[in-house]
Amino acid sequence: MAKRALIIGGGLGGLFCGAILAKEGLQVTILEKNATIGGGLQSFTRFGEVYDTGMHVVGGLQEGGNIRRLCQWLGIWDKVHVRPIPTECTDRLYFAEDRQYYDIASGKEGFAASLSKHFPRQHDNLKAYVEAMYRICDEMDLFHLRPSTRDIFSHSEEFTMPAGSFIRQYISDERLQQIVAYVNPLYGGRKEVTPAFIHATISVLHINGLSRFAGGSQLFAETLGSVVKEHGGEVISGDGVQRIHTEGRSITGITTRKGKHYAADLYISDIHPCALLPLFDEASALPKAYRTRMQEIPNTYSAFLLYLKLKPEAFRYLDYTGYYVQGYDKVWNPMGSAFLYMTPPEIEQGEFSRKMIIAAPTEWQEVKRWAGTAIGHRSEDYKAWKQRKAEFLLSRMEEMFPRFKDCIEDLDTASPLTIRDYYGAKEGTMFGYAKDCTNMALSQVPVVTKIPNLLLTGQCVNLHGFCGVPLTAINTCEAILGPNHVINKL
Ligand SMILES: Cc1cc2nc3c(=O)[nH]c(=O)nc-3n(C[C@H](O)[C@H](O)[C@H](O)COP(=O)(O)OP(=O)(O)OC[C@H]3O[C@@H](n4cnc5c(N)ncnc54)[C@H](O)[C@@H]3O)c2cc1C
Repeated sequence: MAKRALIIGGGLGGLFCGAILAKEGLQVTILEKNATIGGGLQSFTRFGEVYDTGMHVVGGLQEGGNIRRLCQWLGIWDKVHVRPIPTECTDRLYFAEDRQYYDIASGKEGFAASLSKHFPRQHDNLKAYVEAMYRICDEMDLFHLRPSTRDIFSHSEEFTMPAGSFIRQYISDERLQQIVAYVNPLYGGRKEVTPAFIHATISVLHINGLSRFAGGSQLFAETLGSVVKEHGGEVISGDGVQRIHTEGRSITGITTRKGKHYAADLYISDIHPCALLPLFDEASALPKAYRTRMQEIPNTYSAFLLYLKLKPEAFRYLDYTGYYVQGYDKVWNPMGSAFLYMTPPEIEQGEFSRKMIIAAPTEWQEVKRWAGTAIGHRSEDYKAWKQRKAEFLLSRMEEMFPRFKDCIEDLDTASPLTIRDYYGAKEGTMFGYAKDCTNMALSQVPVVTKIPNLLLTGQCVNLHGFCGVPLTAINTCEAILGPNHVINKL
């Protein structure tokens, strides 16, 4: 009989684990608390437009890219609707301090050339910096889908040094040191805390070429779900796991919010570990030291989001991701001074865009006073806070696009509270646990746990984001299927 695997959470990690395990012959059930599967891949419809919640730019899908290879092996690549971001300008940075724009190209040469236009004397430094980031990524066998037995302790000194120090080693111009760090809101980075390998991974994904989902990332979630179903598995949404039953150090079954019971041989959690722990009927099923550590690891920050419906033919479609930064000294401190904006593509994208998403890094502290409130029952002062945030962002948009507000037909907002409530992510964290180079052991969460039939996956384990989470899913599945089982097939 096939082993039964029950997956808690139908987000990016749960769906990839489900698809891989179902393809490899396990009997998979995925339980998702929300009405729709997807987690960070979830899209929603507002004002007649489809908006993505947590997947705006994605890496690893270029020709030969790691996630593209995984999709090809799963047999879904021809169903994935993505639009590559043009190489000449993947990101446009605007520094309000001196009203300067920087268009960042992809490709090793392109990246260095686009910045050495502004800093000609730094050309060789930029090239050395790019090579150093590729060297760091080369230390990660999983990133290249190579078999490995390497652990964190066998990495180079550069791998775990602070991202800020790593940049300073190669780039001597102080302003350029700030500019090349512009991607840090995509990993919740902290200059002297985040290890260089996180900065290098995200930067290399950009340099290798980014894509965007066309027509909404939800389509991709559905495609992954269909792999599970085609192999005889179940994907159940609208019914989350409420209790996990244990006997000694083993899970015997789970009960859902609707009161249904499920039992399996193996359980995989794709939810934030801090959301998982309270589900256990016996807290002592996991050692106290482990539980305390999971609660104490700091999380990356959250975001405030603006979803805009634009008037017909009022605003041209932007093929790049835009970054607004108040000043060069704010790059590593984007709270209240930096944000990203993008016009998500349709499957048939025309000259104009009907929608825009603006995402501003935001600390949980800003909304903590409303933490006890639920969606639909938030107070007037919370609504006033959201309105002030939205106004602030829109006035900054007008610095780059005069009369931008005239293009808006409608708008909606989401805050760290929304992110917490939709994904069940502690403090509305965007990217899960923060990695700390001064204490690497603290944020290293293994896929295996002290409960032999419980495994972890998702962004709090290893890497986050569209590329990192599926790679972790491979790790999780290989803990069941055997070392390098999936990698060898890819
Ligand atoms: C605003 C925002 C923007 C982002 N932009 C990008 C981007 O552009 N590119 C990128 O690569 N990454 C981006 N990310 C990060 C990316 O979305 C995440 O890294 C990724 O989605 C995490 O996947 P996951 O499987 O770990 O968690 P999730 O996708 O969050 O999945 C967890 C799932 O578990 C479900 N769940 C929770 N509790 C239960 C329960 N008790 N029972 C059943 N189900 C439960 C949740 O509803 C959710 O569906 C962004 C994140 C945010 C918040």
